[in-house]
Amino acid sequence: MHSLWEQKLEQTLNEQRARGLSRKMVDVEEVHGPEITIDNQRVLLFSSNDYLGYTQHPALKEAARKAADEWGVGAGASRLISGNLGLNAELEKKTSSFKHTDDALVFCTGFMANLGVVAGLAGPGDIIISDSLNHASLVDACRLSKAEVRIVPHADVSSFKKAMSDISDQRAVILTDGVFSMDGDVAPLADLAELAESKGALLIVDDAHGTGVLGETGRGSLEYSGVDPKGVVQIGTFSKALGGLGGFAAGPELVIEYLRNRSRTLFYTTGLPPSVLASNIKSLSLVDQEPETRARLHENISNFKQQLVESGLRPGSGPTAIVPIMIGETDPTLAMAAQLRSTGLYCPAMRPPTVPPGECRLRLSLMATHTSEQVERAVSLIIDAAHKTGVLS
Ligand SMILES: *Cc1c(COP(=O)(O)O)cnc(C)c1O
Repeated sequence: MHSLWEQKLEQTLNEQRARGLSRKMVDVEEVHGPEITIDNQRVLLFSSNDYLGYTQHPALKEAARKAADEWGVGAGASRLISGNLGLNAELEKKTSSFKHTDDALVFCTGFMANLGVVAGLAGPGDIIISDSLNHASLVDACRLSKAEVRIVPHADVSSFKKAMSDISDQRAVILTDGVFSMDGDVAPLADLAELAESKGALLIVDDAHGTGVLGETGRGSLEYSGVDPKGVVQIGTFSKALGGLGGFAAGPELVIEYLRNRSRTLFYTTGLPPSVLASNIKSLSLVDQEPETRARLHENISNFKQQLVESGLRPGSGPTAIVPIMIGETDPTLAMAAQLRSTGLYCPAMRPPTVPPGECRLRLSLMATHTSEQVERAVSLIIDAAHKTGVLS
């Protein structure tokens, strides 16, 4: 390698190391529901987005196996060429009916859905008003769109209003996560929907962490917030509560038809494999067929939070499965994560750039498949670790 490159790569990595921001992936050796084996040690898993435990659901494994037998293991081409297996249409129909929208479009991941939708819809001359804590994929999508981007303070409706005060006959997008992935709070969707309506703007909500979890019937953060999905563009993923892989956009017919013709992340990539499509189709049904799983998740969430509060910690207050414990600086956060890991609870430290500087935290997340005993054990390990590392005195 040329020394110019060597220098740049080494210098960047060394700087990152010096600031305690090196990233390392941990190999998971075995999965036993909400317990996993790492380095030959069986640990409690409290950092998964598999909120409903669907990655291990027998009916989903069966659906995936059956589809692989029937259709093979890969799609073989982009959806535009010959990779548009009939299962895509079935999944899209199912998704739009699940989300109560006119139509839906399936992408290979949520990240690609965000790029395809935002950069597909908005372009030069358009304005995107974007929440400061939006997911990285939305941030990249905004850049890719070449629209004018106005970033507003997190969940602050009056700032959204102010940022739109000079907009009269320009096309504008209000862009927000439904559930914020590092804080677990829900966007002020009722107010944002009203604002979008009054300004003739398009509201786009990335509901990656709300789908399957929030609302009376698990439809997500719009249902939770009492917002009519008509007119809203929802983006989501099959890879979190739904246990599989893939992204989607659900919304008005014209929007979806436009995206079907304009989304580059839809065309220039291979379609999802049949096993994944089939498991996604089935998981949407399971959300309706097994509502007790969602109820169980919420029971775990409230028990977990209540026990943390009783022990003197202040977990975030959102209704979601994401429970942050704010610590602040990098070192104590890493120390606490390491202490937890050594005592049998796996939950990596969240550091910049995933969260803002000075706002390092543990991002804990609940699963419906955690037993009450596991929840209690997790709380007691967290409290012990907090005392040992000086987070609690
Ligand atoms: C995880 C996540 C995505 C990306 O979804 P994938 O299907 O994992 O690519 C998008 N938006 C938010 C808010 C997320 O948390």
